[in-house]
Amino acid sequence: MATAVVQPKPGKLFIGGQWLDAADSRTYATLNPATGEALTVVAEAAERDADAAVQAARKAFESGPWPEMSASDRGRILWRLGDLVDKHTEELATLETLDNGKPIFESRYVDMPMVAEVFRYFAGWATKIHGETVPVKGPFLHYTLREPVGVIAAIIPWNFPLLMASWKIAPALAAGNTVVLKPAPWTPLTALRFAELCQEAGVPDGVLNVVTGSTRELGRALVRHPGVDKVAFTGSTATGQEIIRESAASLKHVSLELGGKSPNIVFADADLDAAVKGATLGIFYGKGEVCAAGSRLFVEKKVKDDFLHKLVERAKKTIPGDPLDPRTRFGSLVSVEQMNKVLGYIEKGKAEGAAVVAGGGRAEFGGGKGCFVQATVFDGVRNDMTIAREEIFGPVLATIEFGDVSDAVRQANDNPYGLAAAVWTRDIARAHRVAGLLRAGTVWINTYNNYDPAAAFGGYKMSGYGRELSMHAIELYTQLKSVWVNLKD
Ligand code: NAP
Ligand code: MG
Repeated sequence: MATAVVQPKPGKLFIGGQWLDAADSRTYATLNPATGEALTVVAEAAERDADAAVQAARKAFESGPWPEMSASDRGRILWRLGDLVDKHTEELATLETLDNGKPIFESRYVDMPMVAEVFRYFAGWATKIHGETVPVKGPFLHYTLREPVGVIAAIIPWNFPLLMASWKIAPALAAGNTVVLKPAPWTPLTALRFAELCQEAGVPDGVLNVVTGSTRELGRALVRHPGVDKVAFTGSTATGQEIIRESAASLKHVSLELGGKSPNIVFADADLDAAVKGATLGIFYGKGEVCAAGSRLFVEKKVKDDFLHKLVERAKKTIPGDPLDPRTRFGSLVSVEQMNKVLGYIEKGKAEGAAVVAGGGRAEFGGGKGCFVQATVFDGVRNDMTIAREEIFGPVLATIEFGDVSDAVRQANDNPYGLAAAVWTRDIARAHRVAGLLRAGTVWINTYNNYDPAAAFGGYKMSGYGRELSMHAIELYTQLKSVWVNLKD
């Protein structure tokens, strides 16, 4: 593989505006999961490197050009970053696809354009963050200042590497914070290339730092570090719980975007062809490695057989291809470990008595080298089976039937997660009523998987807290100061 093409700074960390070796000079290889080949090496950072990155971010937060810079200039830099992502879309999309296994169609036309839009959206927010004057009793002027939180540790998963990073970096920088970004071990490449674009856009040294590593030690060091003011995390619920525990000693701000087991509810009166498409997209888009994947499909009993027949037809046409081929719509899972986890769940589903009606195992494509799993549909699933309760994070759909509205809502809500949900019906009153009853941070009506920088995203229940994107993300990256002024002579 052409190392020079995929990573211009192999084996280096980006700290304080410099490309540095890890303190003990170690590196590890990042792989292309579609071929099993090593793409390049990246630095294996550990606690000392985390410390250096946090110190650089602290320094940039407290002195230098960043705290002095006008909001308008910060906004201008963010806008420039959006434009640079657009300019380098092809390269960034290729890196993302090579590192993650997702189809180039997705990284080129979905991930990267949204990354650019997220930066432009928050560029606009930079000049719109302000406090208020408050009518208090007595001869006092009272006002609030909305200030940045400080140093943000952004800890990111591997499924939408640069996109998840942008959801954190853009609002954090808009509000004047500084960031230490830790990408997931399997997918570090776009974050490193993005660091170069930050320099080109005029982000001052130390404002964005990138540390890569393949051991738990790195993330933990950031979470425990007294110089970090906030941890912005996207990943699994178990890791989120550990982060809360580890951050408690220093009482850091924490926001968490965690896992999901999202219900996709199809009523008999829905446009069934549209719902079939939506259900397919809901589970197979992004190989099902999507936090909001519609992994529990609830279908009203009287149309279930018809519906499933159509769905299975589509699932059988969802076949893996070379992620770099622009015609491919279904790629490789991110790693052998993830593939084995998903295959384990498929076996568990079979063992618990659910029926495989499409897929059901590893896909042949790739000659056994890549991490390709068949688009898999289970019928006859009960909501209490493992494949209906736990997040599989792969292309595996659990179909469950329901009788009426209250049965659908009850079963949909009967799960620890609450990230997203969808409802398909032509009955407008029912659609809104059910949207109100679902315990989920996002509800889609007659659609699935829509995202926009202006639309808040986040979880109910064990899917986390805090809302990313939208005006609400600004709250995650600012804190309020109350100022009292004595007006007496
Ligand atoms: P993960 O294992 O929780 O890891 C996420 C990140 O946290 C990685 O960078 C990981 O790096 C780091 N990490 C792990 N343990 C840590 C600790 N104790 N302290 C600090 N950092 C730690 O999740 P994943 O497997 O990468 O991603 C899949 C999960 O993310 C799924 O559950 C999915 O639903 C969720 N997700 C949620 C959203 C959302 O918006 N709600 C979006 C995408 C994904 P190391 O492994 O090197 O430590
Ligand atoms: Mg990789």
